[in-house]
Amino acid sequence: MTLQSTIIHPGEDLQEVFQNPKYKPYGIKNFLQIPQISKLTDEQIFDIEVVARVLPFRTNNYVIDELIDWNNIPKDPLYILNFPQKEMLRKHHYDRMAALLKSNAEEELISQTANQIREKLDPHPAGQLTKNRPDLDGEVLPGVQHKYRETMLFFPTQGQTCHAYCTFCFRWPQFTGIADYKFAMSEIESAIKYLRKHPDITDILFTGGDPLFMKTKILEGYIDALLEADLPNLRSIRIGSKALSYWPYRFLTDNDADTLLALFEKVTSNGIHLALMAHFNHPRELTTQAVELAISRIRHTGAQIRAQSPVLKHINNDPNLWAIMWQRQVELGVVPYYMFIARNTGAQHYFSIPLEEAWKVYRKAYQQVSGLARTVRGPVMSCNPGKVQVLGITEMLNEKVYILRALQHRNPKYVMKPFFAKYDPKATWFNQLIPAFGEEKFFFD
Ligand SMILES: *Cc1c(COP(=O)(O)O)cnc(C)c1O
Ligand code: SF4
Repeated sequence: MTLQSTIIHPGEDLQEVFQNPKYKPYGIKNFLQIPQISKLTDEQIFDIEVVARVLPFRTNNYVIDELIDWNNIPKDPLYILNFPQKEMLRKHHYDRMAALLKSNAEEELISQTANQIREKLDPHPAGQLTKNRPDLDGEVLPGVQHKYRETMLFFPTQGQTCHAYCTFCFRWPQFTGIADYKFAMSEIESAIKYLRKHPDITDILFTGGDPLFMKTKILEGYIDALLEADLPNLRSIRIGSKALSYWPYRFLTDNDADTLLALFEKVTSNGIHLALMAHFNHPRELTTQAVELAISRIRHTGAQIRAQSPVLKHINNDPNLWAIMWQRQVELGVVPYYMFIARNTGAQHYFSIPLEEAWKVYRKAYQQVSGLARTVRGPVMSCNPGKVQVLGITEMLNEKVYILRALQHRNPKYVMKPFFAKYDPKATWFNQLIPAFGEEKFFFD
């Protein structure tokens, strides 16, 4: 195995192609230095200051220079993806924070108020803090979640941040610096012990935040430990990451880009499947030279890239856009995987669309692509019982109903069995649904 084999344009110096782009993050403290910010009105700038006190805000020079269309502000979907919008807070929350800022309130009062508002935004949907945390010999494993039999989630401490923050993020409490909110763990050793005790687990999924925000050296420490443990049950290592969208230079010109690709090759050459679970929310994220080249380099390591995203108002609730995105993914060798429904946390009221609309977006997009792109499953709610897919809406026994099924369930017995919920045109999440036909509960309750 040589580094050479992962370089797809032999002889081409990537530093020259991209003139060594250096990562430059922007957030609440320095966003006024973004040159394009002069396109915003004073009011828009104030809105950012207000909302960013509550919801995490971070963007970077790649997103600003190569993804956002600054001639389309404030409607541009890539702008809305990173920059806080006034309506992301409920009006009374917005007004409360705006009043504090206008009266030059003390920093301490501002952050107390921010925490109070955050508590109202359902920071821990789907039992994340309580229901999925396994224990090992009576001790809770803080950096691990285990909900579905085959897959263990691992939250490395250093990966609890991202190259830029999505405004729709359901992991947002992890970025707000409230210590209890983090379920990070620095020790892979107890995760390995857990894997040994649970031979049904075939997959470990590194997640965050974004594990690829970590330096290669740190990630390599975790992965080497897994490889050296030589676990017979471990078949796949997955890494959930938005780096391809937000910082493709992670795979190109960062000073540990080549060692990252070599690490990928080390995994695949050990006979373990390496899946990069990439987050693409909009087809524009798949159009830059940097992302194309990054995808190509990753694929040359033997790793596979699978793509997922929620369907979101203001960003991608348009079937044509999804059809273009899936088609483009197939062209680039990326496998369309999941279309999610916006989770019930943070600014959900701003991004969510009714389940019926989500299903229509999925269906109309699916109709437009060939079978190669129909690997995608959706629309899916990652909710308390499991990953619940909306299969459709129909009329049965004189009642209009949603047809649903669990693609994943805490109890594998319940997977793929269709079930029915009463039709509700306004429902945006599973917890608003009630069983159809006057039943008292869903079959798995
Ligand atoms: C989505 C998810 C997984 C992975 O599910 P797959 O269907 O295997 O991709 C694992 N654990 C949790 C808690 C999840 O939400
Ligand atoms: S990449 Fe994922 S974890 Fe990071 S901000 Fe976006 S949604 Fe949240």
